[in-house]
Amino acid sequence: MNKFYDAAEFFTAEEILNTQKRRLIEIFEILNNNKFSNFYKQRIFQHNNFDEVLAKIRKCDNKTDFYALFRQLVPFTTKQDLRENYPDKLCCCEKNNYVRMHCSSGTTGNPTAIFYTKQDLDTWSRLMARSLFAAGVRPDDVFQNMSGYGLFTGGLGIHQGAETLGCLTIPAGAGNSKRQIKLLQDFSVSVIHILPSYALHIADVIGGEENLKQKFPNLRIGIVGAEPYTEESRNRIQKALGVKVFNNFGMSEMNGPGVGIECEHQNGIHIWEDAYIVEIIDPKTGEILPDGEIGELVLTTLTRKGMPILRYRTRDLTKILGRDCPCGRNHVRIERILGRSDDMFIIRGVNIFPMQIETILLNFPEISNNYLIQLEKNPQTNLDDLRIKVEIKNEFFAENVRHLRNLQKRIETALRDEILVRPIIELVQHNSLPKTEGKAKRVFDLREK
Ligand code: ADP
Ligand code: ZN
Repeated sequence: MNKFYDAAEFFTAEEILNTQKRRLIEIFEILNNNKFSNFYKQRIFQHNNFDEVLAKIRKCDNKTDFYALFRQLVPFTTKQDLRENYPDKLCCCEKNNYVRMHCSSGTTGNPTAIFYTKQDLDTWSRLMARSLFAAGVRPDDVFQNMSGYGLFTGGLGIHQGAETLGCLTIPAGAGNSKRQIKLLQDFSVSVIHILPSYALHIADVIGGEENLKQKFPNLRIGIVGAEPYTEESRNRIQKALGVKVFNNFGMSEMNGPGVGIECEHQNGIHIWEDAYIVEIIDPKTGEILPDGEIGELVLTTLTRKGMPILRYRTRDLTKILGRDCPCGRNHVRIERILGRSDDMFIIRGVNIFPMQIETILLNFPEISNNYLIQLEKNPQTNLDDLRIKVEIKNEFFAENVRHLRNLQKRIETALRDEILVRPIIELVQHNSLPKTEGKAKRVFDLREK
C-alpha cells in the first residue's frame, strides 16, 4: 500500500514554496483576465503592473521574500467583502462553467455563496481524499457520513472525498441516532465523519463503553470537525465510540472540508500548503504574528480557479505549532481552532471563550455530554450573570441532594479558577437540554443589547 494518496503530501519545504509560487501566478493570471469581476483586479493590479508582479514572484527564491511580496500586493478579504459581493460577484468564469454552489451555514449572519467548476470539484475531492488518507482511511474502508447534506459542505464535500478515495460511502446525513447505529452495525462501518456535538450525543445514546468491539467490530476512525471541540471532548468520543478521532478542518470559503487534518500523531492540524497559503495575524492590527502566538487564521485558495479568494480573514483563532512532524509531512501544523473571534463573550469585563468552559466541564465524570451557557442581566444587582446548565448522568442525578450540592460547588470553583468569574451552575437531568442536528448552539446571550 502506498505511503501517500498524493505525492504533494510529502513535498519538501522547497517544493511547497515552488508550488505556491506557480499557483499564485496562475491565480493572478485568472484574476487579471477576469471579465466578470473587478474585485481583485482593482485591488491588486490598479497600482501594480501585471508583468512586473509576475517577474517579481518568479525572482523570489526564499519563503520570506515570497510572503513579504504576497502581503505587499494582496490586501485582506473579509466576510463583509463576500457578503457585499453576494451571490456571484467574485466569479471568474462563464456561468455555464460552474457545476456546484455551496453556502456557508450562516452561523454568524448572512450566508456567503461559493461556486465550483468541474475542475474545482475534482481538486477539492482530491484534497479531501488526501486528508482522509492522512488520517488512516483506506479505499477498503466503509465510510458513514453522519453530517447534514444540503448547502453545508460537510455533507457532499466529505462524501465526494471518501468516494474519490474509493471507500464504500454511506450518506447517512445527520440525526436519527437509532438508524445511524443500525447502519453502523449492518454495514460493518469502519470510519465515520461526525460533528463533535453530535458525536457526544451519539455517545450518550450508545451509553457505556462495554462491548463496543462486539457492537461495532470494525469501527476504528472518527473524522471529527466543522465546529470547535476540546481535547476532553476528543477523549470522550474516542472512549465512547471506540475510534481514534482526527480533527478535520475547513470552511466553505476555502472549498469546505479538506483544508487540513491531523495525521496519525494527532498533534495539530496539517494545512495543505500546496493548496492554501497560511498566515496568522493579530486580529486587531492585522500584523503577522510569530509562530506560536495565538491569532486569526488567514487563508488563500491556490487551486480554486472558478472563484479564488485571497488572504481571507477566517476569524478562527489558532496558532502555528510547527512546520515538521514525525509523520514526515512538511505542511504546517496549527493548533485546534480555539473558537472564532466572534464566539468570545465578555462578562463583567472578562473575555471568555466557550471552549474554556467546555474544557473544565467535561473533566467532571458526573457531567454527561450536553451543556448550555446563558448570559443574563441580573435585575437586582444590574450585573451580568453567567448561568451554565449542565446535564448530569442518570446514575449521578439519582444521588442525594448533599452530593449534588457538593458537585455544583466543585464545578463552580473549577470554573471560577479558570475564567475568573463565578458562574451560576444548574444541574439538570440527562436529555433535558435542547439538541441540534447541525452545529451546536451552546451560548445564549439574553442581555439586552
Ligand atoms: P459557517 O461559517 O456559516 O459556520 P462553514 O460551514 O463554512 O460555515 O463553517 C466553517 C467554520 O467552521 C470555520 O471557519 C470554523 O469556525 C468552523 N470549523 C470548521 N472545522 C473546524 C474544526 N475542525 N475545529 C473547529 N472549528 C471548525
Ligand atoms: Zn503529521
